[in-house]
Amino acid sequence: MAKQVYIVGAGPGAADLLTLRAATLLRAAQVVLHDDLVPQEILDLCPSSAQVINVGKRCGQRSRSQEQINALMVWHARETEAQTIVRLKSGDPAVFGRLGEELDALRRAGVEFEIVPGITAASAAAASAKITLTDRRHASALVVVTAHTCRNESLSKTVEPARSTYALYMPGPDYSKTVQGLLESGQEPGTPCAVVSNAGRQNEEVRYLTLQELAFAKGISAPAMLIVGEVAAQHLPRRKEDSLSQISSEARDPYKQDKSPLYPSLG
Ligand code: SAH
Repeated sequence: MAKQVYIVGAGPGAADLLTLRAATLLRAAQVVLHDDLVPQEILDLCPSSAQVINVGKRCGQRSRSQEQINALMVWHARETEAQTIVRLKSGDPAVFGRLGEELDALRRAGVEFEIVPGITAASAAAASAKITLTDRRHASALVVVTAHTCRNESLSKTVEPARSTYALYMPGPDYSKTVQGLLESGQEPGTPCAVVSNAGRQNEEVRYLTLQELAFAKGISAPAMLIVGEVAAQHLPRRKEDSLSQISSEARDPYKQDKSPLYPSLG
């Protein structure tokens, strides 16, 4: 395995709801930086030689800032011998996991990474409750919302189209019609999107474009998913440069912030 950071979804908490890829990576990991919600049952898969570090934020306890977590990942990737560095996050790492900030830090530092999806809490909860999230007789959309935003917005603001990511299943084959529907629902022609065919398979194909470009796109293979919203903006050529600005000083030296508690042995 090439040296890189693996951002791994731990699923809802039961070890047998991990993906095989997640379990394989945990068994091979030299360093694991995990959130508080990840239970011991899953951490027990890591080799006893692995450095397993809880970087989680728990109410009322001393916790690391997001910048410190970012810096730790970058530091391990750049400065240590560790080849397999796992950033373990509960559920799916890309759902309400502050992953965006962590990816920005890795990109700025030029660190290679791979994301391993996990079962998100919404899927696990629906299974437990024996509910179909999108029973076609009752629902045509699944809205995944947080009651805690970094901007402290009210829930009504949180679900505004401009602040929402839409994940469209079955977006084709008539993409111009899909785009028209999205524009009618309040999206802008310049809204960025990613269309992903065969996600997670050998023949995966990802295109980043705007909705107006998507309307005329040709040759998108099925099955595909369409992700619409500002979250896809940084991959558009014109926005890429803005997002990859300087490496923060913390990313160069995580110990500047937090010398002793994290690495007594390395401090
Ligand atoms: N990335 C995670 C979500 C992180 S936010 C995911 O995809 O699931 C943390 C919140 O997820 C918790 O406050 C709780 O609302 C929910 N959550 C995580 N694991 C859960 C579980 N096993 N059962 C119910 N809710 C869970």
